[in-house]
Amino acid sequence: MERFDVIVVGAGPAGSTAAYTAAKAGLSVLLLERALSPGDKNVFGGRVYAHMVRRLFSGIPEDMPFERFVANERLCFMDDARCACLDFYNSGASPERADSFVARRSKFDRWLASRAEEAGALLVCGTRVDAPFMEDGQVKGILSSSDRIEAGCVIDAEGVTATIARKVGMRTDILPRQFKIGVKETVRLTEEHINERFSLANGEGTASVFVGYPGGYLAASGAFLYTNRDTVSIGVVIEPSGLVSAKREVHELVENFRLHPYISRLLRGGEVIEYSAHMIPNSVPMERENLVGNGILVTGDAGGFFINNGYTYRGVDMAMASGHEAARAVISAHGRGSFTSEALGVYYDGLCREALMEVKRFEGIYSVLRNDRFFSTYPLLACDLAEGLFSVPGFGKKKLKVMLREEMKGRVGITTLAMDILSMYRNM
Ligand SMILES: Cc1cc2nc3c(=O)[nH]c(=O)nc-3n(C[C@H](O)[C@H](O)[C@H](O)COP(=O)(O)OP(=O)(O)OC[C@H]3O[C@@H](n4cnc5c(N)ncnc54)[C@H](O)[C@@H]3O)c2cc1C
Repeated sequence: MERFDVIVVGAGPAGSTAAYTAAKAGLSVLLLERALSPGDKNVFGGRVYAHMVRRLFSGIPEDMPFERFVANERLCFMDDARCACLDFYNSGASPERADSFVARRSKFDRWLASRAEEAGALLVCGTRVDAPFMEDGQVKGILSSSDRIEAGCVIDAEGVTATIARKVGMRTDILPRQFKIGVKETVRLTEEHINERFSLANGEGTASVFVGYPGGYLAASGAFLYTNRDTVSIGVVIEPSGLVSAKREVHELVENFRLHPYISRLLRGGEVIEYSAHMIPNSVPMERENLVGNGILVTGDAGGFFINNGYTYRGVDMAMASGHEAARAVISAHGRGSFTSEALGVYYDGLCREALMEVKRFEGIYSVLRNDRFFSTYPLLACDLAEGLFSVPGFGKKKLKVMLREEMKGRVGITTLAMDILSMYRNM
């Protein structure tokens, strides 16, 4: 029976990065993916923060598939008729210098997996891993249908479901509030329409985040819009528990968002060509015992590596960082000839320097984002203030401080506002 140094379960960004790094170091790597092609079943909003691509490949490889580089960012507060945005445009962005790219998972994941193959990993698609293969309390491979494949260790990069980690007992306490649901629609337009309507030069892209109306004014909700080359991705991210208590349906929220006057004029004449939904980790436990086991490491969404600090969604770069660090730990453990939790522990130590520290740095934001004033009172206040600021209703225009005082009356006290701003400021 063939035996591998490491089996990586899942060819998403975490798995393919882990396979690439391990194979590049000369280890024998089996990368297993349940979909017929990497990325086929994967869902995300659209933005890849590029720092991990640069680190892995010493720059942005010419063949990396991306739709547009992000040159324009918007953070918008929306009610049912109005939209107040903070708009940032950077003419210095370019494919070489951009901080982030808009990409399609079917292309990006396939490309990353092909990089792992080129480095020597064996990619097998259409194979679902059912369970870990255990011997003497240590993971020594995987079980898939009637097959058993053995390895020195396994990297769980399955995404948010983390079934292998759960079967080993590394994830037990999954609560509804530890996940969000993300729903996305892709709308086809022409490249020219997108450039024109979003004021973009060729190749430039927009990444926008919306708070308020699109999430039904529910706590910890948000919406996004990303411009691809000739399509636009829009979607809503929300906590399922909030939906249930508000008796709302997520597909209804996405549709309301698409039909909002601000969005519908941007998407005019477009055709919805894709609809997809996926879970997102939301503050799941990330202690050593959740990430490092005997013969197993847990990476990416499976390990909870996701940051949403209210204005960014970061999963892909965190998945790549944790996949890379997991592979480095496997390489070191391989050198020691042992894959026990103790030998693989350098994963946790290495992560503590970077990816894990990054997640933990923003951990406080999750309680801040459960404050529903950020999703109801403040978006409405922002729209009212913007309208007041820009309108001239004859003589007697009020100063900003008077307008603010009047708009706040009966909605939020000055102390509460100050405390909320402070909590956001401290955690974002
Ligand atoms: C709506 C939405 C919007 C998002 N927007 C963004 C964004 O704009 N930017 C960003 O950085 N992140 C975003 N994210 C988060 C991002 O998609 C994830 O954090 C990231 O994909 C995690 O990568 P991963 O490799 O850990 O898992 P995944 O990408 O989920 O990959 C896991 C892979 O494992 C495979 N697999 C699963 N189980 C098995 C099994 N048993 N056997 C074999 N294969 C298996 C799957 O088919 C899949 O290919 C978003 C997520 C959602 C849902």
